Amino acid sequence: MYNTIVIGAGIAGAVVARELAEKGGRRVLVLEQRDHIGGNCYDKEDTYGVLIHEYGPHIFHTNDEGVFAYLSRFTEWYLYPEGHQVVANVNGSLIPIPFNLNTLHLVYEEEKAKELEDKLIAAYGEGSRVPIMELKQNEDPDIRQIAQYVYENVFLRYTMKQWGQTPEEISPEVTGRVPVLISYDNRYFQDQYQGVPLRGFAPMFEGLLDHENIEVQLGVKATERLSITSDAVLFDGEPFSGEVIFTGALDELFGCKYGRLPYRSLRFDFEHLDQADFQQGHSVVNYTVSEDFTRITEFQYLTGQKGCDGTTIVREYPFAYTGAEGEIPYYAILNAENEALYEQYRGLTAGLSDFYLLGRLAEYKYYNMDAMARKALDLAERIMEKER
Ligand code: UDP
Repeated sequence: MYNTIVIGAGIAGAVVARELAEKGGRRVLVLEQRDHIGGNCYDKEDTYGVLIHEYGPHIFHTNDEGVFAYLSRFTEWYLYPEGHQVVANVNGSLIPIPFNLNTLHLVYEEEKAKELEDKLIAAYGEGSRVPIMELKQNEDPDIRQIAQYVYENVFLRYTMKQWGQTPEEISPEVTGRVPVLISYDNRYFQDQYQGVPLRGFAPMFEGLLDHENIEVQLGVKATERLSITSDAVLFDGEPFSGEVIFTGALDELFGCKYGRLPYRSLRFDFEHLDQADFQQGHSVVNYTVSEDFTRITEFQYLTGQKGCDGTTIVREYPFAYTGAEGEIPYYAILNAENEALYEQYRGLTAGLSDFYLLGRLAEYKYYNMDAMARKALDLAERIMEKER
């Protein structure tokens, strides 16, 4: 009855399901364990009518014209006129993040700042993006002094909260996501398109999955319907010969038999305030030297929603995922040991010719939304080419 099964209705699952249903003409069954689609992009109105991101702030940003055009079939956008801008609260002062030349001029007095700016431009070139761990290695003591300031005031404590480890201990790819910018650009991302779906992420996912060849079943754990042997996928106990695209946690598919893959999780503390504005001046403020939470997001500035009574904010408290009921694995912890464990699990799927792993969880990677949509489009293409 179904040609294809997709596990998970987040961005990876929804895009691959749509492509295979629409272009590939397949009957696609999407199994989603939650009671809603959209994965961690899911948003909804809280009891006060404020549109919130239930699983933490999600900002779509991309330079990929193809991905932007594709998703634009399913939504209009609220694109931020000035891009997404973040500040860090450092002992009560707000400084632009990523650290850039504006930040430099805020934290050093004028003459010194000018001198340091010239050195940075000479060393790296105007407009370049320098990972903090690389900046710290510079030979010039003046540049190392800036690096030390950024390390101590932007990265060290935030990273300790977020990962329970120092910037040295985590993958350089992670701190490299927020490089020092040798420019006067205050935007958090340098991508051309930055914003959120105009009416929210959830309607965009409804549009993606609204196709005559797609059936979505909510509240279904993959392991209730699928089992994997060394060379076959069983669906409801029968061998299934179509493609299976799995976007869930791979260790759980195999009962965590080699041990759990480590993740960081988050607790979100939502607070509704009976005032028009929380007055932090930005949609997101990072707390880089104080507090137990990493950041505060005020949703009305993230979503562009107007006319609500009051405002809703969220604080994020990271912790180590244990797999307990109700916990959510948000971030893979990238290091050699964890990746080796992941490879052990992946090895269990090596004998399956039409079984595909896609997404942050299934691939144990740190993807942005646009990169995920791109990978899903490419995978669908690859699958469809296989039959030609
Ligand atoms: N980071 C930091 N201070 C900041 C912002 C980021 O130390 O003010 C580090 C931290 O380790 C974080 C990583 O850079 O996990 C990546 O940040 P990003 O904002 O991309 O994380 P996400 O929004 O995906 O949680």
